Amino acid sequence: MTNLNYFKKIANWFFPYTCILCNYPSNRQQDLCEACLQELPILPQSCPRCANTFVTPLPNDLICGSCLSLSPPFDATFALYDYVAPITKLIMELKFQERLINARILGELMCEAAVTLWYKTSPLPNLIIPMPLHPTRQRERGFNQTIEIATPIAKKLNIPLEKKSCRRIKHTSAQARLQREERQHNLRNAFQINSNFRGYHVAVLDDVITTGQTITHFCKALRLAGADKIDVWCCAKTQYKSE
Ligand SMILES: [Zn+2]
Ligand SMILES: [Zn+2]
Repeated sequence: MTNLNYFKKIANWFFPYTCILCNYPSNRQQDLCEACLQELPILPQSCPRCANTFVTPLPNDLICGSCLSLSPPFDATFALYDYVAPITKLIMELKFQERLINARILGELMCEAAVTLWYKTSPLPNLIIPMPLHPTRQRERGFNQTIEIATPIAKKLNIPLEKKSCRRIKHTSAQARLQREERQHNLRNAFQINSNFRGYHVAVLDDVITTGQTITHFCKALRLAGADKIDVWCCAKTQYKSE
């Protein structure tokens, strides 16, 4: 064993958790130090239904105008972070460098929010459905990041994870670059659900929500498959500020 490895081994013994952001020993029971945790960009107050944020914050618990005029196919959206640094870095590294530890930490943070904030006074969902990736994309990547984030949550909260019955059957790769109409067209029938979710209160988990169109189409498909109540859980939401 080289001196360096020996040193690392000793260091790990005393400081078993290393912060994924600053790389220093975290001094907590998590691979994220207190200082970095405090710096994470919590999403400001947003519409409880769609998690859109507004220049002038909405009065407490009121849903936004677009949700009022066109009711989304989900009942609530819980978005933890704003999609800015360092959340962008954590998610990019997870997706493109296979840094699975980031998924575990993000999952732990979402789990804590679910218990202490989102469901403080209401019952937790009884099924977690990670947003499916198209099989081609999943093969290229080798994993689905939403499953990786959802796994520690499901384990900790003891909620079953549904990974098999929902499939993404259309490869909607360049979604962000398409025009709105093309995007809508591209997403039509993009999902296939081979299960009946009647009687279920589901949590659909996504890593990042931008326009919200993909999640809307997926939730529509879940509604058609009988889901009684659908909550969207997302790790990060891009702020789409409207007046
Ligand atoms: Zn740190
Ligand atoms: Zn809304």
